[in-house]
Amino acid sequence: MFNTELIERAARFRRADDDPLRKLESCPALVLNADYTPLSYYPLSLWPWQTAIKAVFLERVDIVASYDREVHSPSLDMKIPSVIALRQFVKPSEFPAFTRFNLFLRDRFACQYCGSPEQLTFDHVIPRRLGGKTTWENILTACAPCNMKKGGRTPRQAGMPPIVAPIRPTNWQLQKSGKSFPPNYLHETWRDWLYWDVPLEA
Ligand SMILES: [Zn+2]
Repeated sequence: MFNTELIERAARFRRADDDPLRKLESCPALVLNADYTPLSYYPLSLWPWQTAIKAVFLERVDIVASYDREVHSPSLDMKIPSVIALRQFVKPSEFPAFTRFNLFLRDRFACQYCGSPEQLTFDHVIPRRLGGKTTWENILTACAPCNMKKGGRTPRQAGMPPIVAPIRPTNWQLQKSGKSFPPNYLHETWRDWLYWDVPLEA
């Protein structure tokens, strides 16, 4: 089972992950709530290294895991925290932020009129000129051709019923979609705190 290629690959992986010269900007800390679940998923709760270290010294967080990268000052050598946990529990918000990414995530990166994953845009279900608002309940992911075809009409006028009616999702509902679309950067030390089924890509 052991062959040179496998050993080399493992060595490359270790080097990539434990690089003590890792750039400081690439050392965000994953922030866990006091119950050791991520403070938020969308966006994933990450703090820059300076904020994380400051919170450590203010005794607001405990260090759960660290990068190999160190920071030095005359009075201190310290490994940069990669996972920290709040000492005081913060009640998580039930609803995710209304952002473009989260809206695509709710719609699983597919046109809600034809299912296409190409040329995605946003469509006001009730057009703005008819008083349609820019809210979770009135915006859908639509491919450019469907958006053009529908134009300034309601779905009924255009004969284009959406596959799923738009709703304001809870964090829990968005998490179900999010497992298929993890963030690009996942440090090895984060994996125990995120989803079971996300492949690790550092
Ligand atoms: Zn479409």
